[in-house]
Amino acid sequence: MTGNRVAIVTGGARGIGAATAVRLAREGFAVAVLDLDEAACAGTVRAIAEAGGTALAAGVDVADAGRVTAAVERVAAELGPPVVLVNNAGITRDNLLFKMSEDDWDSVMSVHLRGAFLMTRAVQAHMTKAGWGRVVNLSSVSALGNRGQANYSAAKAGLQGFTKTLAIELGKFGVTANAIAPGFIATEMTAATAARVGADFEVFKAAAAEQIPVRRVGEPEDIAGVVAFLVSDDASFVSGQVLYVAGGPRD
Ligand code: NAP
Repeated sequence: MTGNRVAIVTGGARGIGAATAVRLAREGFAVAVLDLDEAACAGTVRAIAEAGGTALAAGVDVADAGRVTAAVERVAAELGPPVVLVNNAGITRDNLLFKMSEDDWDSVMSVHLRGAFLMTRAVQAHMTKAGWGRVVNLSSVSALGNRGQANYSAAKAGLQGFTKTLAIELGKFGVTANAIAPGFIATEMTAATAARVGADFEVFKAAAAEQIPVRRVGEPEDIAGVVAFLVSDDASFVSGQVLYVAGGPRD
């Protein structure tokens, strides 16, 4: 693929999404930074612009079909047809099963699964037309099961099946689809988990690091680097895979 390439990163206002947007801009992509609140994307867009890159902020709830269509159309009109999509937007609503509400279940399914579905359906038209595309979905080690996360675990496992099916359907158009399943990454999401269990975040991270073979927690840039590889031409024969990025092995 030559010429200007356009990438969309959902949940790009902070955390893994922000680091990924900045990294993809460094790799030469024009990046659309999508998040619930357009104003919250300003920091990511500024960081990209200050480094000499091109970025656009768009406010969108990825679970809202109409707003997804409008946002993708806007990206195509203002930056060019998007050929890379990183489905990163996510939420947690943790609770043990017997205390989990229907809303806890539905909202997690909605953002992760419906969101990835709507975004990918909207963007694939541009990818197949270009004859080149990359989809990267953010799964999690929680897909293997995690206490208090029946909803999140099911959604993240669902994203793995979604990824493999995209790889099968879209491969003949030059489009690959892969999932990254991070372990513990230091972001506002894990800080909120620490706060919920009443732990100081530094103590929480140190305890998590003791259980990780490389003896540290992950940083958003650890995931951004793997996204950069998966969207590169070097990864054109890698598709339908789930890459666990957790500082140690996972099944
Ligand atoms: P984060 O810091 O909480 O950032 C997630 C972003 O997604 C937030 O800006 C959030 O906006 C946005 N978002 C939430 N719902 C959305 C929606 N409906 N439409 C658009 N944007 C929405 O999370 P993170 O830790 O960077 O995680 C990024 C992804 O990696 C998630 O899919 C997460 O499940 C996955 N992951 C994270 C870890 C980890 O340890 N951090 C591990 C495994 C997998 P608001 O802040 O306004 O809600």
